[in-house]
Amino acid sequence: MELEFIQWLRAHAPDDPRAKLGLSDDAALLSFGDKTNIVVTTDLLTDGVDFELGKHEPKRVGRQALAANLSDLAAMAARPHSALISLALPRGGGANRGALELAIALYEGIEPLAVEYDVVIAGGDTNTYDGPLVLSVTAIGQITERGPLTRTGGKAGDWLLVTGALGGSILGHMLDFAPRVHEAMLLHERYELHAGIDISDGLALDASRLAKASRCGALLYTDRVPVSSAAIRLSELDRADDIEASALRHALSDGQDFELLIAAGPQTAATILQERPLECAITQVGELVAEPGLWQHSMQGQRKPLEEIGWRHA
Ligand SMILES: [Mg+2]
Repeated sequence: MELEFIQWLRAHAPDDPRAKLGLSDDAALLSFGDKTNIVVTTDLLTDGVDFELGKHEPKRVGRQALAANLSDLAAMAARPHSALISLALPRGGGANRGALELAIALYEGIEPLAVEYDVVIAGGDTNTYDGPLVLSVTAIGQITERGPLTRTGGKAGDWLLVTGALGGSILGHMLDFAPRVHEAMLLHERYELHAGIDISDGLALDASRLAKASRCGALLYTDRVPVSSAAIRLSELDRADDIEASALRHALSDGQDFELLIAAGPQTAATILQERPLECAITQVGELVAEPGLWQHSMQGQRKPLEEIGWRHA
């Protein structure tokens, strides 16, 4: 539904120079006519859909909600500034908890992350009703002198680099991950990056989104994808016949990795790989190609289509 609604909005909302990229990138770029450029991103999370309060502590849910937004700011290489938090709380708080108690528990997860990333909680709203917890976070960031990193600047021949390792986030990473804010800002400041996106819905799908926005195709070297130990563990728990193939599928398609996918010219990308400026791993997983679509190298080294597998929002 979400994609169709965005398409409808694009057709109905006229272009306005005051707000760019909002429907097509990780965050909206707001322009005030001077040099003040601000990016804004928002997320709406519902109990039972995006998390399960029965299973996950409210503190971790609160933390995750802010962290996911900071990851979108990272995708734009923006410096986090502030956030607004809105809560629709179940009357009675659910799980033998009062609504106030639940709100405070969520905040206790949000606050330490806000402090860590120097984000001020600038406001929000709360309500109680007879329904599940709904949590909305809006994060505001400042773009640096380099301008925003967007999805649109990639060129055929660019190398695709990814931070960290992918897949199996459901085993815990999705709640406890560190948004790649510092990594994105450092890379964007030090190197000439062409495009970037955060991997929220799976490498295959998000690589395809970046490629489409850059009017290219993407070719993934599936044998070079950094598969996380969680992806392997998940495949073992699934009792998959082929653990390696299953783990790779998790790495390509699992949502909520919140790693960065960057496109940069081959020389720049090679320099990044050589200098390894980040504390986390950074790996080449493919390249942008002129031919539209999503591709992989086959075992024989031939190019064949790769399904756009990933997490699709209802
Ligand atoms: Mg994103």
